[in-house]
Amino acid sequence: MKECELYGVERDGKTVRCFACSHKCLIKNGDFGICGVRRNLNSKLYLMVYGKIASMGIDSIEKKPLYHFYPRTKAFSIGTVGCNFKCEGCQNFEISQINKQENFNFNFGEDVDPGEIVKDALSTGCKSIAYTYNEPAIFLEFVKDIAVLARKKGLKNILVTNGYFTKESFDYIAPYIDAMNIDLKSFSNDFYLKYCGSKLAPVLDTIKRAHEKGIWIEITTLIIPGLNDRERDIEKIASFIASIDKNIPWHVTRFFPMYRMTTKQITSKEILEKAYKIGKKYLNDVHMGNV
Ligand code: SF4
Repeated sequence: MKECELYGVERDGKTVRCFACSHKCLIKNGDFGICGVRRNLNSKLYLMVYGKIASMGIDSIEKKPLYHFYPRTKAFSIGTVGCNFKCEGCQNFEISQINKQENFNFNFGEDVDPGEIVKDALSTGCKSIAYTYNEPAIFLEFVKDIAVLARKKGLKNILVTNGYFTKESFDYIAPYIDAMNIDLKSFSNDFYLKYCGSKLAPVLDTIKRAHEKGIWIEITTLIIPGLNDRERDIEKIASFIASIDKNIPWHVTRFFPMYRMTTKQITSKEILEKAYKIGKKYLNDVHMGNV
């Protein structure tokens, strides 16, 4: 573990406020934030998963998905555990929700330092490092330490994220980030509250900020039958992206029943094609994913 940088101590001198993500958790001594990996120990906030890798892989960059950023190259992909969201249809729930199980003690995976990760990325011929599999905002200090070294060695840095940054945390990491795939799960705040335990507005802010800073962005929306597949909902997402830049690529992807949504249907090809057609009315670059 390592002391976090993205937090402050409250006036009582004991409680801390984390601002790595827009939950801005107020955390009492001994407690964890919502993500389950940032803990207040004696009025200091610690990142319990610093140097802990739960998942590591060499993926094609198109799998992130990023279709227009160094195409046909490999991305050295890493993730820890935990998440600031609790998406009921999470496709990676084994690692993202693991911290919420009882008796989890952070004894998992490999212990690695940032230099080793960069070395491995280079030796395997990767052009980039992707912080992915679980939400990178919750282990952002670890991301930054790797990203600084990676950039010095000519590697690109990629965030695959739910976009729930604060302005402070985004300003902290943005100088080292070259590309992002940001999930825009719905254009309904109720959807975010009910199915993800979060809010919509910070995600929209992150998309705008990333574009303003000149970071290459692509957006992904997982289309879940009966939840976010109405035409007007899809239209709202597409028109929002177009209001920023109609050249931003949009990936509409197929849902497979998972985690707490095992009774939902797989997204039909017809629904996905409908989303694609609506997207094309607003955007130049729309892709169907998981098909
Ligand atoms: S990263 Fe987000 S969820 Fe985790 S402690 Fe900080 S504010 Fe809370």
